[in-house]
Amino acid sequence: MNAKPSKITLAEKGMLNVPNVPIIPFIEGDGIGQDIWPATQRVIDKAVEVAYSGKRRIEWRELLVGEKGFHQTGQWLSEEALQTIQTHVVAIKGPMTTPIGTGIRSLNVAIRQKLDLYACVRPVRYIDPVPSPMKAPQKIDMVVYRENTEDLYAGIEWQAGTAENAKVIDFLNSQMGTTFKGPTGIGIKPISEANSKRLVAKAITHAIDAGRSSVTLMHKGNIMKFTEGAFSRWGYEVAKERFGDRTITEAELYDRYDGRQPEGIVVIKDRIADMLFQQVLLRPAEFAVIATPNLNGDYISDALAAQVGGLGMAPGANIGDTCAVFEATHGTAPKYAGLDKVNPSSLILSGAMMLDYMGWTESAAMVQSALQATIKDGVVTYDLARQIEGAQEVACSAFAAAIIERLH
Ligand code: NAD
Repeated sequence: MNAKPSKITLAEKGMLNVPNVPIIPFIEGDGIGQDIWPATQRVIDKAVEVAYSGKRRIEWRELLVGEKGFHQTGQWLSEEALQTIQTHVVAIKGPMTTPIGTGIRSLNVAIRQKLDLYACVRPVRYIDPVPSPMKAPQKIDMVVYRENTEDLYAGIEWQAGTAENAKVIDFLNSQMGTTFKGPTGIGIKPISEANSKRLVAKAITHAIDAGRSSVTLMHKGNIMKFTEGAFSRWGYEVAKERFGDRTITEAELYDRYDGRQPEGIVVIKDRIADMLFQQVLLRPAEFAVIATPNLNGDYISDALAAQVGGLGMAPGANIGDTCAVFEATHGTAPKYAGLDKVNPSSLILSGAMMLDYMGWTESAAMVQSALQATIKDGVVTYDLARQIEGAQEVACSAFAAAIIERLH
């Protein structure tokens, strides 16, 4: 195949133009990145080759970000690397260390903020026979759309005892009717109409495209009425404004359709956050797509990942309107770095998500089913081997090789 590598570009309405040989930037990641990235790359490359009989392939372009970037260029995250991700539309990354004492809060957060990757997307699905604390984990098949840019995570807070904190408390006590006494930390929880609506719109678009039955707005609006409550209200509004012919509310489902969901229609419902935590345990089959503000999203994503066997298996992506970065959801596990030991499934499944996002759905499905078949055959890395009776423990690279053998 002689096609020249070229960039993925944006087409109309958020669609992508994907050439047969797209250039995709990757960040290997720190710590176990050196183990799980090569494993992932081999699996993705082989799946694409098999799925498209060699007519498509990925031209990988390494970005020096994180420790590798710092050692080779003196920069943890360069403007050039951010620009490259932006101009190539799709990228993938391993986990990264949070540099201590550099003033950088987190490279992951910096990438999300600078590229306005406002939706943190986490699919959660059970892979048999991964040990799970649930009685019927196969009923879990959800995708979480977590708002990535605001809420208490915006980092607007003032430490108790500082002059800035005193200024804020003085304003609140003297002009806003509060009565704070003694040292009190203060944080601000911004939730905007624009950011809530674009996040919920993305979740609904996914539900429509993927044929999912519902979008649940998860919030704590019974208590935080003007932030979380507003998120829910704006979510229902955007559903009516932009997707009126493809969505109905849960109330309409019962009032107008007698509880029988019309074909091709997505039901929009909302649940109070604490109640949803109960319901995803007790009635998981009732939830398909969950759209939620940042903090709730952080909690529910990890809780759901635990329900299907832990973070080592959970893929993820940060998606904006103009580009997307796919990533492993666990950290750098430094004590295992370079030992060829850890489980590369999270990054491999993130790679499959990336292929799906590019419209290379056949290769994505192939990766997922080969990974599933490998685990089902009992060929697993140490973390699962110690939990699955009779399993054969293999190295990270051997696990990738076993997946490759099962790609067809
Ligand atoms: P961690 O996820 O790196 O590791 C915690 C433990 O989980 C490990 O000791 C290991 O037992 C297990 N584990 C993690 N990934 C695994 C895998 N693929 N296979 C098997 N077992 C695995 O969490 P941590 O120790 O809290 O964080 C270490 C570093 O990672 C910190 O610098 C932190 O900032 C960073 N971090 C980065 C990301 C990211 O890049 N998205 C996410 C979380 C943490």
